[in-house]
Amino acid sequence: MLGQMQDRPLLISSLIEFAALYHGDVEVVSRSVEGPIHRYTYADAQQRSKQLAQGLIGMGIEMGDRVATLAWNGYRHLECYYGVSGMGAVLHTINPRLFPEQIAYIANHADDRIILTDLTFVPLLEAIADQLAEVAAFVILTDRDHMPETTLPNVHCYEELLAAQQGDYAWPSFDEKTASSLCYTSGTTGNPKGVLYSHRSTLLHSFSSTSRDVLGLHSGDTVLPVVPMFHVNSWGIAYTAAMCGAKLVLPGMGMDGASLFELLDGEKVTISAGVPTVWLMLLQYLRDNDKKLPHMDRTVIGGSAAPATMIETFENDYDVTVVHAWGMTEMSPLGTICTMKPKMADWSYDDRLAVKRKQGRTVYGVDMKITDDDGNELPRDGKAFGHLMVRGPWVTSGYFKAEGGTVIDDDDWFDTGDVSTLDRDGYMQITDRSKDVIKSGGEWISSIELENIAVGHGEVAEAAVIGIAHPKWDERPLLIIVRNEGSAIEGPEILEFMKGKIATWWMPDDVTFVDEIPHTATGKIQKLVLREQFADYKLPTA
Ligand code: AMP
Repeated sequence: MLGQMQDRPLLISSLIEFAALYHGDVEVVSRSVEGPIHRYTYADAQQRSKQLAQGLIGMGIEMGDRVATLAWNGYRHLECYYGVSGMGAVLHTINPRLFPEQIAYIANHADDRIILTDLTFVPLLEAIADQLAEVAAFVILTDRDHMPETTLPNVHCYEELLAAQQGDYAWPSFDEKTASSLCYTSGTTGNPKGVLYSHRSTLLHSFSSTSRDVLGLHSGDTVLPVVPMFHVNSWGIAYTAAMCGAKLVLPGMGMDGASLFELLDGEKVTISAGVPTVWLMLLQYLRDNDKKLPHMDRTVIGGSAAPATMIETFENDYDVTVVHAWGMTEMSPLGTICTMKPKMADWSYDDRLAVKRKQGRTVYGVDMKITDDDGNELPRDGKAFGHLMVRGPWVTSGYFKAEGGTVIDDDDWFDTGDVSTLDRDGYMQITDRSKDVIKSGGEWISSIELENIAVGHGEVAEAAVIGIAHPKWDERPLLIIVRNEGSAIEGPEILEFMKGKIATWWMPDDVTFVDEIPHTATGKIQKLVLREQFADYKLPTA
């Protein structure tokens, strides 16, 4: 017997409709690409999103067509989120930090019909325009006064496109499983692969995010996503904020400490979210300028592991609760979030910190398990580590156009490529990427664990660990260090510092120094590049 409840589709347009109707006066504040701070409301955002939808229809865009953006976090990008997906087209958020050839590749792979771009990226597009033969038009996200001279073909001015529309548009209704947006993973090997979200997956992910045990976003919050809207839909915040009517602050291209602080302080931001690198810059600025964060309640750190020192500084020096989170493009992205359980309230500081360093506990909606190389499930004891497998309604079932072939097993389990532990309370801790784990004498050494310990040394700016071929042990760890400015620290001192913090057989066999460690477009260490760079490295123990 079926239930008798209504089968109303979960659609992205309902988010902005709700925000406009019930939180119509709540502000969306943006640092515009042109310079000034821009303010308007959710009611304005919906109105203009509808005008954009009408404009796109006028340009021949139909349901299912891919419409791309190359844009910072700003109000016009927000309008693209709702205008494009709301009308049933697919919003393809391109990461402008990819190499130009990769951008051309994914725009073609996605069959983008129109590209909407911030002024910043016009030169980038001009350089690859001849490779984008299928793109019918470019829309520059600015007004007539700021329109640049450009060699791009078929160029439109965004504000003029909107001004020509009435906005008397009713969001259409369609199947909630319709594709809504497309985001390519930066992948450290091979070509980027597209993850195609649906309206349903996006809404379910948003419901989860607003729950108290996850981001707990609510109408009393002012949220500033530093995480870009071109990186897994700003971790869903552009949707979640509208779902609960939270004031939204969009930092544009101002990701430096001073610009972020100006908005965090001036707009009384209560919650923010971003990768550790961004927070390093902010903490540096706060320290150098003797600033505090009196309004900020919590900050979400994810994308790579939050170092213990960062958690401690936020909590002890600035009274900001750190919420460590883990996820991936293939998961919309949220999988775990590190909120504490009541029984931990009277634990010692060190024990609580040990929990906070974990990536967090599994959120409702995502199934998780760890397995060995043969697919056998490993115990949830916080010690065993293995391949982290996930499944759920906001986890991908395969990449766009079947790139990479079948990526889930018969029971829908998707291999995240991460290696982790799981404990009885559901807390997950990443120990490595499966490609990066160091295989020494048949056992695994976590490169991330070694890196975390090394960066705890005051004179270390950044650390990376890779496995180097070893005649006896198969692989042994090499520690690669970027020193702090002015530091002349040497390898033995760092190894001495690490002693006692890990098993002796985990100790790196050698330490080497570089000026810079290569990063991917999303800020992750490029181990593959390092492995190539150090391919001929001879360990003293070999
Ligand atoms: P992306 O799809 O670019 O968001 O990258 C996802 C990957 O980033 C995950 O599979 C992890 O390897 C890594 N990652 C994300 N969050 C964390 C975290 N909190 N700690 C460690 N690694 C993380």
